[in-house]
Amino acid sequence: MKILVISDIHANLLALEAVLCDAGSFNAVWFLGDLVGYGPDPNECIALVRELPNLTCLLGNHDAAVLGMIDSDAFNAEARLSVEWTRKRITPDNAHFLQSCVPKMSVQGVTLAHGSPRTPIWEYLLDTNTAAVNFAHFEDDFCFVGHTHVPVIFEAPSGPYAFTAGLIIPQPNNTHQLQPRMIVNPGSVGQPRDRDPRAAYALFDPNALTWEYHRVAYDVSSVQQHMRDLGLPERHALRLSAGW
Ligand code: ZN
Repeated sequence: MKILVISDIHANLLALEAVLCDAGSFNAVWFLGDLVGYGPDPNECIALVRELPNLTCLLGNHDAAVLGMIDSDAFNAEARLSVEWTRKRITPDNAHFLQSCVPKMSVQGVTLAHGSPRTPIWEYLLDTNTAAVNFAHFEDDFCFVGHTHVPVIFEAPSGPYAFTAGLIIPQPNNTHQLQPRMIVNPGSVGQPRDRDPRAAYALFDPNALTWEYHRVAYDVSSVQQHMRDLGLPERHALRLSAGW
């Protein structure tokens, strides 16, 4: 049993296709939110994700902003521009699909949340202190999150006086044995922010409790050109090659 765990596609179709091709066969897909925003292919990405087998799809902050469910004033100027660009182009059927998604749920004994189990739409789990307090906000053995675009594994604080989570930086092509309890982030498909521009994904085996973490290269420059042709913010195009 293999579950493809992916997050933050951000309308980057070439990155998504590269991940699906590289991942080989899998039985189910858990997508942790932010299908749209930043990238040039929102409708194409939603159409492709909707067809994936046994899909669980979360709602991210960019998805919610495009739907008008949260105020896009909370975004910086360029991200807001991208939200408004996407809102004008998304088909009613695809918007309806996103509306059916929620930012946090429990599936097969794993909590899935876009940002964090405590504040699923907005909170970034970027450090071991913030991760530590979030262990009180889910009951399953594991919580899988996205949102930061940085692959990481946080271990529950050990001992009664510990106040920081343990930190594991997964290495590409490594298989990590998960132990209860952990918060795990597969990184971002469509806009990595760990200075590695390659698309990130993981394969989770819920029986063996293994987390296979991978990166795959894709044609970044052609996505950048597509974004420029469409008049999307230059900074978002540059981020793709910087991996930041
Ligand atoms: Zn995101």
